[in-house]
Amino acid sequence: MATIEGNVSEADFELGVTLGTGSFGRVRFATHKANQNCYAIKMLKKSEVVRLQQVEHMLSEKNILKTLSAEPHPFIVNLAATFQDPRYLFMVLEYIVGGEFFTHLRKAGRFDNSTAKFYAAHVVLIFEFLHLKDFIYRDLKPENLLLDSTGYLKITDFGFAKRVAFKTYTLCGTPEYIAPEVLLNKGHGKGVDWWTLGILVYEMLAGQPPFVDDDPMGIYQQILAGKLNFPRYIDRNVKALIKKLLLADLTKRYGCLKAGAEDIKKHKWFSDLNWQHLVEKKLPAPILPNVSGASDTSNFDPYPDSIEEPSIPIYSGNDPFSDF
Ligand code: AMP
Repeated sequence: MATIEGNVSEADFELGVTLGTGSFGRVRFATHKANQNCYAIKMLKKSEVVRLQQVEHMLSEKNILKTLSAEPHPFIVNLAATFQDPRYLFMVLEYIVGGEFFTHLRKAGRFDNSTAKFYAAHVVLIFEFLHLKDFIYRDLKPENLLLDSTGYLKITDFGFAKRVAFKTYTLCGTPEYIAPEVLLNKGHGKGVDWWTLGILVYEMLAGQPPFVDDDPMGIYQQILAGKLNFPRYIDRNVKALIKKLLLADLTKRYGCLKAGAEDIKKHKWFSDLNWQHLVEKKLPAPILPNVSGASDTSNFDPYPDSIEEPSIPIYSGNDPFSDF
């Protein structure tokens, strides 16, 4: 989807239902009044972004998405425009009509081997592509993957993504998906993404992540202990791959070795997957979302009507969002 040229503002859109919420705002369905294209507009409340000390992350999300949208990848959500008003930052994203991968996974309970392989392969290609550009994603989870109308994945939410060639130190991610090196605050790099791939593959096949507890501290203890239990029905090739991804030792973890993503792509579990056909979207998708048209929002859970709490503009002088 092409970028929207010229000055863009909220007045250019007809805003519709809320598709999802994040920590500092919500994502709403929108139609562009002039070109009638459908978009998902991410609205971030400036006061919340500042209060939660996420200004750097938000500016970086916009810059990363803008860079990536210049050379669109079929499995990465495209950014069409950004704008702001005194209270909000707005990111106009292509609308992905099939809903959250999370919803489809929960509905199914768990996926069979070939469905999990199809979706895991998307993530391998996404990370390979991002890492080549020295971006790490750092927030893989089923909520950040969306299904397009053809049943292929698009990754969204680059709020934690970062450009780093080597190591960074920020603690981020979702408890169940955090890598041991992040918990130990030893500095982390691209390896965290390959760890989260291991968690996702496990969760797709087992219906829940490998390390679960009501209390995040309990999850962290399990992550550091590193003991994996597999349900009996899990295919032995994928079990072998998950074990190679969920290795605390970065000198052994797949994806982090000399061959990079190739070690994963050439793994036995993927031996019947045609990578070229996947990226060209020539493979039949295992899930076809029910979609009545480009503006269908029925694949997203309904949210209470978007009555926004009043939010006051907070800047008169030194505006931290002047680069947005
Ligand atoms: P985010 O704050 O980026 O994680 O987005 C919050 C939620 O909004 C996601 O989990 C999706 O349900 C929804 N969402 C985000 N981006 C899009 C998009 N491009 N198209 C449709 N829904 C989206």
